[in-house]
Amino acid sequence: MKKALLYSIALVTCATASLSSADTDPGRAAFRAIYQEMVEIDSSPTTGSCTKVVRAAETRLRAAGFTDEEVHVVIPEGRPDDGNIVARIRAKNAKKKGVLLLAHIDVVDAKREDWERDPFKLIEENGYFYGRGSADDKAMAAVFLDLMIRLKQERNFKPGRDLIMALTCGEETSNRVNGVDHLLKNRRELIDSAFAINEGAGGLLSDEGKPLALQVQAGEKIHQVYSLEVTNPGGHSSRPVPDNAIYRLAAATQKVASLSFPIQVNPVVREYFRVTGPMLGGETGAAMSAVAKNPDDQAALATLMKDPSYNAVVHTTCVATQIDGGHAPNALPQRAATTLSCRVMQGTTPEQVKETLEKAIADPQVKVSIVRRRDGSSPPQLTDEVMGPVKKQAAKQWPDVPIAPLMSAGATDGRFLMNAGIPTYGMSGMFAKPGEANAHGLNEKIRTQSLYDGRTFLEGIVRAYAK
Ligand SMILES: [Zn+2]
Repeated sequence: MKKALLYSIALVTCATASLSSADTDPGRAAFRAIYQEMVEIDSSPTTGSCTKVVRAAETRLRAAGFTDEEVHVVIPEGRPDDGNIVARIRAKNAKKKGVLLLAHIDVVDAKREDWERDPFKLIEENGYFYGRGSADDKAMAAVFLDLMIRLKQERNFKPGRDLIMALTCGEETSNRVNGVDHLLKNRRELIDSAFAINEGAGGLLSDEGKPLALQVQAGEKIHQVYSLEVTNPGGHSSRPVPDNAIYRLAAATQKVASLSFPIQVNPVVREYFRVTGPMLGGETGAAMSAVAKNPDDQAALATLMKDPSYNAVVHTTCVATQIDGGHAPNALPQRAATTLSCRVMQGTTPEQVKETLEKAIADPQVKVSIVRRRDGSSPPQLTDEVMGPVKKQAAKQWPDVPIAPLMSAGATDGRFLMNAGIPTYGMSGMFAKPGEANAHGLNEKIRTQSLYDGRTFLEGIVRAYAK
């Protein structure tokens, strides 16, 4: 009963807030236009360009009065499509370092023929915005751009510290220049800041669409890529032999499929389960509470690990993502390889993962290699300076909804900033059910209301940070 009451209070509050703000917020149409423009400019690596998004943003910033000194377009040499843009609202007598608002503007490829709707058209349907990047990460990019423009034009806005917005390329794919990395190496002064707000967390909705917890990302798993490779002398396919590179690789890959890495419930995840469990209720909620109490509770862990979202945060995972083998239809394969995408817990080294894979495969003819190694970063502290405004704004928009710290299973550009000494927090205030957005996948979407509520949330905290 108490839970039901909590839910309904939260819902009513949200609905009321959104209705009134829709009626009284003339800026919403302008924001929507920015968002639509951004989603509709294809910035995928195969067919698109980040620089086109950058130029559109630049035009808007210039029209709003940003000067040469305040807007910088940074295009890496020889990579005309990998553009980034940084804009700054300068404080008069800043006593503190600025705050960085970071969003990436590149998206994952999207094939029109696979999608139900055109991926590069913003389509509003049944309470959702559909389109590639509609959630990841053009939702935040559009919110930040819209906010910078409005604050610049607001006469009475006198920030006590600089506000810096960076819209960057190359977050999603390694065949592009990563904008954050590039800026840190070449133009650090443009984005140097006290801390950064980034993608990585929003809010959790129940199956019925009720807000359960506002999430703040503090730390993330590290993406390492491995390959399993088998080589073989091969031969004529009319003379098959039992030792076949493809069969051997298939067996090794199958062993990875049944490999479960050791459980590591870290403090952030444990706290997340403690806060979220009672709100979520049911079997999953009870399992969360049990693991929060005792991280070795195997039965509860097994329940949680049935859900891909929770399985992802309690241990390292490795999954086969690509396969490649053979050189001719009429030849025995000389080479076969599987690519593994591993999401590694902070504190676990790439070599430890390699060793676990080798042990599980137990075949010396299968060569396990680290194809792409990434530096890990340690989780940022949830300071009062950062969390104070979050708590205040959350209390206004989602009273009684707890704030849950989150370790993200995916990787963001936060790792570059954190390695460079800039604490980075993932928060959008955009609520969704687990996996609902299907970011990187087909028919990516975001709840219309979540986008607008997130916009209100981000504006609230940015104004507070700017004081
Ligand atoms: Zn993203």
